[in-house]
Amino acid sequence: MADFVTSGLNFRQSVDCMVDRALALIDLQEGVANQIKSCNAVLEVRFPVEIKGKLEVFTGWRAVHSTHRLPSKGGIRFSLNVNQDEVEALAALMTYKCAIVDVPFGGSKGGLYIDPNKYSRDELQMITRRFTRELATRGFLSPSTNVPAPDMGTGQREMSWILDTYKQLFPNDINYIACVTGKPVQQGGVRGRVEATGRGIQYTIREFFRHPDDVKSANMTGGIEGKTVVLQGLGNVGYHAGKFVSEEDGGKIIAIIERDGAIIDSSGLNVEEVKSYVTENGGVKGYGNGDVKYIEDGAKALELECDILIPAALEGVINSDNALNIKAKLIVEAANGPTTFDADRVLSDKGIVILPDALVNAGGVVVSYFEWVRNLSHMRFGRMERRLEEDRGNHIIHALKEVTGKEIPKWIEDELTRGSDELDLVRSGLDDSMRTAYQQIRETKLTNDRVHDFRTAAYVIAVQKIARAYMDLGIY
Ligand code: NAD
Repeated sequence: MADFVTSGLNFRQSVDCMVDRALALIDLQEGVANQIKSCNAVLEVRFPVEIKGKLEVFTGWRAVHSTHRLPSKGGIRFSLNVNQDEVEALAALMTYKCAIVDVPFGGSKGGLYIDPNKYSRDELQMITRRFTRELATRGFLSPSTNVPAPDMGTGQREMSWILDTYKQLFPNDINYIACVTGKPVQQGGVRGRVEATGRGIQYTIREFFRHPDDVKSANMTGGIEGKTVVLQGLGNVGYHAGKFVSEEDGGKIIAIIERDGAIIDSSGLNVEEVKSYVTENGGVKGYGNGDVKYIEDGAKALELECDILIPAALEGVINSDNALNIKAKLIVEAANGPTTFDADRVLSDKGIVILPDALVNAGGVVVSYFEWVRNLSHMRFGRMERRLEEDRGNHIIHALKEVTGKEIPKWIEDELTRGSDELDLVRSGLDDSMRTAYQQIRETKLTNDRVHDFRTAAYVIAVQKIARAYMDLGIY
């Protein structure tokens, strides 16, 4: 994003500076630190596809930041903002993210320079399949070494095309279905993956509000109920995060920023309704009645007075140009890299608490990990134990009735006799992963008096875990 230029740092340098801040607090050989930060390999491909009778040449990248654990994991984005630097920065974030949430993967990321809105479904399919072939035949796509997932501009549909192309190329690979995650359930996807990043954001916010001293440090009290929220981006991540935080936890969404501007309503916006409107009309302009205010310069809404700001669209949107004007008490980085390094310092000085991207949006890769494991086991989660759990529940109900001689309320009976299905297990595993990671970060922040913020604490943990892996492998 051009915004990074205003701070003199590009996206990758911005991420490196944040990691350097953590490295300065750890006793680590310089060579090891450099190895952790280095992007191990980058593939750039150019390939032709015939579109409406004319040959068009497309450019794509796949960066492998680390291979200390395999496969390397990270989304593929289709966007006109994609370039090698961005892909390398995002791959680095994947490495740290996986370490933070204890997912045994290296970090990778891919991107295709394209405006997906300009092409028909069939054209996009041809382009995606050709890009897949470029990646797979060069060793940048396989269940054991490099596994993509959806990101900006891609979703289940593109993952299905990637899977099918890989299967055609390598029909003898018994684990072909694990070559990509974020697939539709009918194609081997796991239940709960589409919503996973948004769910993870909800679980992280919930965990934050479970710690009154953390809440106090952000100049707030109480729980999520009634807290005002500004949300940027109503794509996969923003829509789900906004929906769960408002519908399930009582947060009040007072502004939604999309690519064509922002809508503001102090009495609260209904995320589901706004999403339907955006899907139908291509933007937020014109939504609602007289109570809803529209502003064309959407980024200005980032500066609104609110409790929680959730940037869930692009990188570099909170930068040295607007950091001083941000009034949120808590920033929850749902997007990757929404805050530049310079802005991060300004916000910290202002006392604004930031929950960093490498933690907050890790729900996607956590559930991708579950999907990959499910694919390797060739069986859905819960298939073996669900009825057994139900039987156990029935025995407990029976025993309780026998011992007490009383009837058990129906809702307790229902709860106890319901075996966990795949979605229950995925949500439970995701909640545990997000909570545990948050608690480790919080603990590091509390016990190290040189660590003052969640981001630095998160990177201290990530770097220590990765360094440990290199040490165990005998690399130093
Ligand atoms: P998406 O393509 O589904 O949605 C992006 C949304 O942002 C779209 O609605 C788009 O219209 C909107 N947008 C574009 N430009 C904007 C602007 N200038 N102002 C406001 N809104 C704008 O993408 P996504 O998958 O939701 O990803 C969003 C962010 O979350 C990215 O940074 C991505 O890397 C990160 N992320 C995604 C996942 C995932 O599972 N999809 C996981 C981790 C992190």
